[in-house]
Amino acid sequence: MAESKHYKVIIIGSGPAGLTAAIYTSRAGFNPLVLEGDQPGGQLTITTEIENFPGFPSGITGPQLMDDMREQAKKFGAQVEFELVTKVDFSKRPFTVEGEGNFYTADAIIISTGASARWLGIESEKKYMGKGVSACATCDGFFYKEKDVIVVGGGDSALEEGTFLTKFAKKVYVVHRRDEFRASKIMIKKAKENPKVEFLLNKVIDEITGDDFVTGVKLKDTVTGEIDEIAVDGVFMAIGHTPNTKIFEGQIELDEKGYINTVPGTTKTNIEGVFACGDVQDKIYRQAITAAGSGCMAALDAEHLLDN
Ligand code: NAP
Repeated sequence: MAESKHYKVIIIGSGPAGLTAAIYTSRAGFNPLVLEGDQPGGQLTITTEIENFPGFPSGITGPQLMDDMREQAKKFGAQVEFELVTKVDFSKRPFTVEGEGNFYTADAIIISTGASARWLGIESEKKYMGKGVSACATCDGFFYKEKDVIVVGGGDSALEEGTFLTKFAKKVYVVHRRDEFRASKIMIKKAKENPKVEFLLNKVIDEITGDDFVTGVKLKDTVTGEIDEIAVDGVFMAIGHTPNTKIFEGQIELDEKGYINTVPGTTKTNIEGVFACGDVQDKIYRQAITAAGSGCMAALDAEHLLDN
């Protein structure tokens, strides 16, 4: 085994949670190592304009915000490496972390590997990503004022986001592959009572159509197999998220959906010295600002442990 390098704090993941944790732990003098993963900057790097992050009245792009956070962390002594963690061992302290051929040990670990939106997996979805296809109504809904959009899914997210999108859009279709919803009754009632919402049940998106931007979707009926095309300007996926916790299975307590369990009101996991922040432990709020806030909490929780 190659020689390992020791750090007081290793942060796994580089979205707003991880980089905020890096800013705080580096300012506290811990010179953390940030292992960025295969998507440096996280989910925000695939969004366009961010208009709801406080402090940017004219908006800021996702990639720019993440570049700025990274620079801010480095300025105070964080070491940021483009490396994907492949294995961890939390069974004893110092903890060990394995990257691509590199080995590290740490007194404290902050996990901020985030979650990934689920996608349909069709070719046209990739083609129109950021050009009318989004997985975040809160981020991108504002760009669809007086336009027609379609939301995919039948869970709480789809119905909540569908209802939210009616604030901007002229018409919101909700397409679901069955005729029964997974969403809660209250969410269904709210969406059904909204005159701008139209449900398209027993249907799936077969293809997203357009030129430079999305102009419509081809819908396949899951019962009859029939295909219809409707005109829309935006397609919002709300078919769930998958927390990025594969490498932590068997090492740390996860809930039934794979999110890391944290002690309420803290970022502490079931392993003393391992903290989790951001979307990897949050299936409710999932915002850049809440992720950043929990990254700050993780840094303070880690500092408290290391100082005592
Ligand atoms: P979810 O409950 O897992 O629902 C995902 C939906 O997407 C399901 O209706 C599913 O259909 C559909 N789906 C999955 N893969 C699909 C595919 N390939 N093609 C078409 N449809 C597909 O996810 P979620 O709605 O994001 O909710 C996640 C958790 O957060 C839930 O526990 C939810 O209650 C919670 N949440 C709560 C709130 C709130 O309380 N305000 C808001 C949002 C989310 P099937 O039903 O056929 O499987």
